[in-house]
Amino acid sequence: MGQIQLSAVRKSFGEVDVIPGIDLMIEDGEFVVFVGPSGCGKSTLLRLIAGLEDTTSGTIAIDGKEATHLPPAKRGLAMVFQSYALYPHMTVRKNIAFPLKMAGMSEAEQTARVERAAKVLNLTSYLDRRPGQLSGGQRQRVAIGRAIVREPAAFLFDEPLSNLDAALRVGMRQEITELHQSLKTTMIYVTHDQVEAMTMADKIVVLNAGRIEQVGSPLELYHRPHNLFVAGFIGSPK
Ligand code: ADP
Ligand code: MG
Repeated sequence: MGQIQLSAVRKSFGEVDVIPGIDLMIEDGEFVVFVGPSGCGKSTLLRLIAGLEDTTSGTIAIDGKEATHLPPAKRGLAMVFQSYALYPHMTVRKNIAFPLKMAGMSEAEQTARVERAAKVLNLTSYLDRRPGQLSGGQRQRVAIGRAIVREPAAFLFDEPLSNLDAALRVGMRQEITELHQSLKTTMIYVTHDQVEAMTMADKIVVLNAGRIEQVGSPLELYHRPHNLFVAGFIGSPK
């Protein structure tokens, strides 16, 4: 399960209304991309969903249950950080198992889950290496593995590929899409890259200055943009 509903979600930092008010329904199993220019509030919106920031007002429901004030660990969501968030002194196996260990899960269950995740991510032969002995793409997969083992209701990605070179980015984009097809778990993916949005999303949320300009499938946005901002943004990949 992984339905997420935002109702009149607002966030201000001091005097500044970064997100004046957002209503959005994300259905279970959808691949949703938040796209928009730098500084438009994508990360803030994701962090509100994750519980890493408190809403100023409005409500967030996860699978129909009120979650607005739940701490991140109680939301059943997994935020995938960029690969540099790995522990350099731990093996891949220990990095992936870390959240399970923190949750007090038995060694046997930890091992079973780590090995399942490693299989899905083609990391089985790398489990005893350390992050420094992996390529950028492999490190990114370890970061994803650490989210998968928790079997979350949804994965939240914040520009996970921005540190990778262009060729690797294309491959990882494909891998994340395939991961979504095999797990069928809700994914929310933040990017400022129109091409990523158009190629990966079931549903794109176009943000501009903390407001939603349009929500729709890549084809809908391409063929029926509601305004010049959406047309310009979707129509002119950098
Ligand atoms: P994006 O991810 O789309 O680039 P962000 O969500 O990071 O945008 O930021 C949106 C706006 O909110 C920016 O103007 C940023 O400076 C501001 N902002 C983000 N976090 C904070 C914070 N903790 N305190 C003050 N302003 C913030
Ligand atoms: Mg950001």
